[in-house]
Amino acid sequence: MEKNLYWVTDGTYQAAFLTTRDGVVLFDAPPSIGHNLQRAIDEVASANGVSNTVTHIVYSHHHADHLGASSLFGRDVVRVGHAETKVLLARDNDPARPVPDVTFETRRTLHVGGERIDLAWHGTNHTPDNIYIHFPDHGTLMLVDINLPGWAPYDSFNLNEDVPGSIAAPATAMAYPWKHFIGGHMGRLGTRDDMVVYQRYVDDIISGVKKALVTVDPTPFFTKYGNNAWGRGQDVPGRAGRLRLRAGHQEVHRRPGRRRRLHGQHHVHHPRVDPPRPRHRHPNPPMTDAGNSRAGSIRF
Ligand SMILES: [Zn+2]
Repeated sequence: MEKNLYWVTDGTYQAAFLTTRDGVVLFDAPPSIGHNLQRAIDEVASANGVSNTVTHIVYSHHHADHLGASSLFGRDVVRVGHAETKVLLARDNDPARPVPDVTFETRRTLHVGGERIDLAWHGTNHTPDNIYIHFPDHGTLMLVDINLPGWAPYDSFNLNEDVPGSIAAPATAMAYPWKHFIGGHMGRLGTRDDMVVYQRYVDDIISGVKKALVTVDPTPFFTKYGNNAWGRGQDVPGRAGRLRLRAGHQEVHRRPGRRRRLHGQHHVHHPRVDPPRPRHRHPNPPMTDAGNSRAGSIRF
């Protein structure tokens, strides 16, 4: 990306690493990239005559699709993440995602091998623990699962846990100085122009929704789609989702105590979405008039 900062992608997921005189700092470890992370590091390290030993892994947030290869780097690596990431990973109890050894609440600057990395938490967005990873000496910001340059969210707003928080996040990102953006997905990096386009896209959706809320009569839609409303299975598209939806339906209409009874089907969540939980609020949330968007009450 710039100098000794590199990014790795499989076209769908992204990770980054910083080579230092004392070893390598890795940022996220998506399982889809897996062992290719170390292969990429080996290639860069041998070309530049620096150490290929990963000494630190910084976690962007707790989701398995971004951290599931963490355990490949062994027990001696220092893992760094938000305090809430530790809580959520302890809950998940997934051997592929060891809990962070070093945590912080709002800000933490890492100094490794003469390099500087600024970590910050600016409130809940995609998840309660999603952090901003700033490389002040490399003109780069990493913020995962908010703006994915080259892609636009619509359904479920990219599996968001806090829609107003995610709407506010790009403005917070733009307040940092950077040229290169790592969004965590897609096969390319982002620019400041990408972020502006994304903000306009979201603004358009917000104004369209505000208009629709006062001009569209939803009665014909409710009539046509029956009593399904929103909820069960609507967040799990495709055949598996429909099967789970049906299983939930059967559960409702089956007498209790029957054999082969299904459990918990009324609380089906997308595997990448955590169950609803109380929101965490930053003491000084970024100012935005999008914060009162009604979208925040959508249940996933
Ligand atoms: Zn995520």
